This record gives sequence, C-alpha cells and structure tokens, in this order.
Amino acid sequence: MEIYLSPTAGFCDGVKRAYEMIESLDMKTIATPVRILGNLVHNPDVVKKIEENGIVKISLEELSKAEKGEIGTLIITAHGIGPDVFEIARKKKITVIDTTCPRVIKVQRLAQVFAVRDYEIVLVGDKLHNEVEGIHAWGNRKAQIVSDRSELEKLKLAPDKKVAVISQTTQNEEFFREACAYVGHIHPQVEIFSTICHATHDRQTEIKKLAEKFETVIVIGSPMSANSTRLYEISQALNPRTFFVENASEIKLAELKDAKSIAVMAGASTPSWVIQEVMDLLFSDFKL
Ligand code: SF4
Repeated sequence: MEIYLSPTAGFCDGVKRAYEMIESLDMKTIATPVRILGNLVHNPDVVKKIEENGIVKISLEELSKAEKGEIGTLIITAHGIGPDVFEIARKKKITVIDTTCPRVIKVQRLAQVFAVRDYEIVLVGDKLHNEVEGIHAWGNRKAQIVSDRSELEKLKLAPDKKVAVISQTTQNEEFFREACAYVGHIHPQVEIFSTICHATHDRQTEIKKLAEKFETVIVIGSPMSANSTRLYEISQALNPRTFFVENASEIKLAELKDAKSIAVMAGASTPSWVIQEVMDLLFSDFKL
C-alpha cells in the first residue's frame, strides 16, 4: 500500500509565527495573568499545550466584564480582531500581544480603507468566524458578508457607489470566483482583491490532485477549523473515500485495511506532532 503525506500539510506560516510568539513568552517577565482571546487555532492539542503554560482562554464577553487589573496580558490570535478590542484593552491597561497574521492584517486594512472611501464592501467569508468578525469590525461593519450562493443573491449594492470584493483568507477559491463573477455581473464598478492566502491556495490545489489520484484520503483537522473543513469538503466531493479526523485516535483502521493507496493532508491549524502520530499509526499498522 502507498501512503503519501502532502508536503503542504500542517501549520501555515501565520499559525507557526503565532505559536512561536506564544511559546517564546517569558511568563516571569510579562504582566500576569495572561489570557488569550479564543483559541490560537482550532486544535485541542495546541489549546492544551497553551493552557499548560498558564495561558487561559477568555471570551470577548469576559474581557469586557473584567475589572482593571484582572488581566495582565491579552494575546490576540492569528485570526485577528477588531479595533474595539484594542480599545477595551487600552482602557483597562492590559498589555496586548498581537499575533494576527500579516496576511489577515492586509485584509483588515483593505476593509478599513474601503469603508472610509464609502465603497460597498462584499466580504466573502463565514459570518461566525473570528477572522471575518475582525475584518468586518475594521471595515466599520459596513461590509455585506456572503458565504454561499443564496447570500450572494440577496446582496443589495447601491448603483451609484463603487464596490470592493475581499475575502476571508481561507475561503474556497471556487466560491470566491463565483462571487466575483456574480458581483461583476450585477454591478458595473467592481474592484476585486484576491485575499485568499497562498497557504490556502496551495492546499486546495493539492487536495484536488490527491483526491483524484489516491484511492483514500485522510484530512487531519478540527471540524471547528474553517480551512480543514474546506479541505475535507473539496476532497469528499471528488473522492467519497475521504475521512476527516482530528487526530490518530479517530482513525478507524478497519475502514482502511483494503485501501490500495492513502493520501494524508492536514489543515493549517494541525500541529506537526498530531500529523506524526497519524503517520506512525498508519505505517505501524500497515507494516511499511
Ligand atoms: S492561512 Fe494564511 S492568512 Fe491564515 S493564518 Fe495561515 S498564513 Fe495567515
């Protein structure tokens, strides 16, 4: 049996950078207690490791309610956050460690600029995702967010305004293209900014090839992770023998025993040690 691990699997540059920033914190010298706004990535193993370092997750609501002095340092995750949160931290004299991915910051700035210029903004992304919420906030909440065809068809764009189309960095490229074509069709003045990250592009391109070439595909990632879920959906649509697992413990070897070839892919939030455990399990069980 052939078992292939995609070279694009695992932490993207933005997540790696954020994780290293957090790992290198000297807990003896920074203001404590240290809190992180949400999960650094949607991966339980990473969350556990961070908690072991004394960094506890809090929600926006908890941050808003916290008294002055109750939080020493606040970590912003790679997904980014809106300007209102920085203002809350400033007022409460909380030190901020901002690990927002530079590529996400670029989209935030575009939203900000086009909001100031009074453009209609179409943000292609998942409404409930933190990254989208942050971009939306930087754009003064003027954007119309679309995540599927039905939302696209409900767009209301003033004919006398220019339109800017931007995207969540982990969006499905096909849907982004569809959204751009749709907006271009209903409005004469559209400016398109392809803000899908190269890490997303590379993985989505690769998973299509893997789904067609390999008999079985395993995508490692959390169902809470937008980019991992998209990889699974793309592969599943092309190859029904696609399995979505969070870690090695979710692999059902009995389902794989007759497979002729297996490709393994992992989302941008999946750490290397989780991928290694899956590979070790596959190689040990199939005695390769
Ligand atoms: S997927 Fe891209 S934009 Fe998102 S955190 Fe990773 S490198 Fe940054």
